[in-house]
Amino acid sequence: GDFPIETDTIVIGAGPGGYVAAIRAAQLGQKVTIVEKGTVGGVCLNVGCIPSKALIAAGHRYENALHSADMGITAENVTLDFSKVQEFKSNVVNKLTGGVKGLLKGNKIDSVSGEAYFVDANTLRVMDETSAQTYTFKNAIIATGSRPIEIPAFKYSKRVLDSTGALALKELPKSIVVIGGGYIGTELGGAYASFGTKVTILEGADEILNGFEKQMSALVKRNLKKKGAEVITKALAKGVEETEDSVTVKYEVKGEEQQIEADYVFVMVGRKPNTDELGLEQAGVELGERGIIKIDKQCRTNISNIYAIGDVVEGPPLAHKASYEGKIAAEAIAGHTSEIDYLGIPAVVFSDPELASVGYTEKQAKEEGLEVAAAKFPFAANGRALSLNESDGFLKLVTRKGDGLVIGAQIAGSNASDMIAELGLAIEAGMTAEDLAMTIHAHPTLGEITMEAAEVALGNPIHII
Ligand code: FAD
Repeated sequence: GDFPIETDTIVIGAGPGGYVAAIRAAQLGQKVTIVEKGTVGGVCLNVGCIPSKALIAAGHRYENALHSADMGITAENVTLDFSKVQEFKSNVVNKLTGGVKGLLKGNKIDSVSGEAYFVDANTLRVMDETSAQTYTFKNAIIATGSRPIEIPAFKYSKRVLDSTGALALKELPKSIVVIGGGYIGTELGGAYASFGTKVTILEGADEILNGFEKQMSALVKRNLKKKGAEVITKALAKGVEETEDSVTVKYEVKGEEQQIEADYVFVMVGRKPNTDELGLEQAGVELGERGIIKIDKQCRTNISNIYAIGDVVEGPPLAHKASYEGKIAAEAIAGHTSEIDYLGIPAVVFSDPELASVGYTEKQAKEEGLEVAAAKFPFAANGRALSLNESDGFLKLVTRKGDGLVIGAQIAGSNASDMIAELGLAIEAGMTAEDLAMTIHAHPTLGEITMEAAEVALGNPIHII
């Protein structure tokens, strides 16, 4: 047998939840060990947020090169070397994962490669191909993330791909079918459509990007169509036949069976938590529905020295949520009173145009019985948006009637992903529409859209009637 290694806090999984938790725990003076069975950076850095944004950005460059005639620019012989695009993507990923490794080392965190398994509530066993090591710990943070759901009629194969496979294609496919018009399907479908792939998105619900307001998803749908993509809603994917070089996807719309042939089918119908092979029962950690780990406001499970964060717990599966919870868990272990509060958590889709939302939508607020007003300002009335040739979209500000407290905002438009930060801050800081309207925003910037929406809320906008 091996001698157990003692540590204060052991973190399982080095994704955006785990590595952030480990760093914060080290900052707070704990002896920290982090265990990762795959690659440091987790899903987000390796096969999620970052590589997808690299492909989306490259797709935009390509599209701009082809379609800037209205700005007086035409280019001939624009070529696409997709293997170079993939190289660019991999370089970005490697820089970031290398950076995280450096941060772990710089914070004197012991990084261990291998798969962790609970023996009891104070002991973990870590195994790699050749060896095993036991660790005893005072506290553990479970940050093992999630993996794509597989549906029985679409077993993953050479041409039936999950998001990881979809991000790693070596050659640009001529055609793809995407099952699932959620944010991952829409983002990746959109990226390939930008490169010229013929894309068909099959969505079971009435609309793609369910959860965002219809006016917002409608803009995305229109742009997908402009890129030559087809979006089929209320479509039930039934099955797939695969040959050496193509797939035929069968689906049903309005009771009629249809089929499409394509090079690949991407299955993007959701993810499930990695909680089934962790030995949680040996540690006594209870699971909730769908394998989610139940936690309190300090990310503590039912076992008082074991915490859980990120995609394995309830809430939207987003990297910034995982990191936020990681800091809370590390601080809770150090005896701080930190608690989770999702009031100002943003949700962003890197579609075309980008969509972003924070706090309440008008509908949600009304459903909760709040008296609210919604104020809208279009990108088309903003000088910066026009000069960027990005005049599609709007910002909607949701305020409480009476005092004008900002309780939510939704943005559809270029750079919505960055613009939403100001609205999150406004909500966190308890600001009113007047506070936003009185804040001097540089001209000409997209930020002025926020200021002007606040003026709309106050009834005195300058740039619209
Ligand atoms: P993960 O990132 O999943 O990391 C968990 C880690 O734990 C993994 O590295 C895994 O190998 C390791 N692990 C699992 N079990 C064990 C074990 N037993 N022992 C040791 N190690 C183990 N989110 C956003 O906020 N913005 C985006 O733009 C965005 N884009 C996305 C695009 C795609 C295509 C996908 C798939 C996801 C995207 N996400 C995005 C979601 C985001 O990636 C996740 O929410 C985030 O990675 C969750 O972080 P985590 O730390 O909980 O887990």
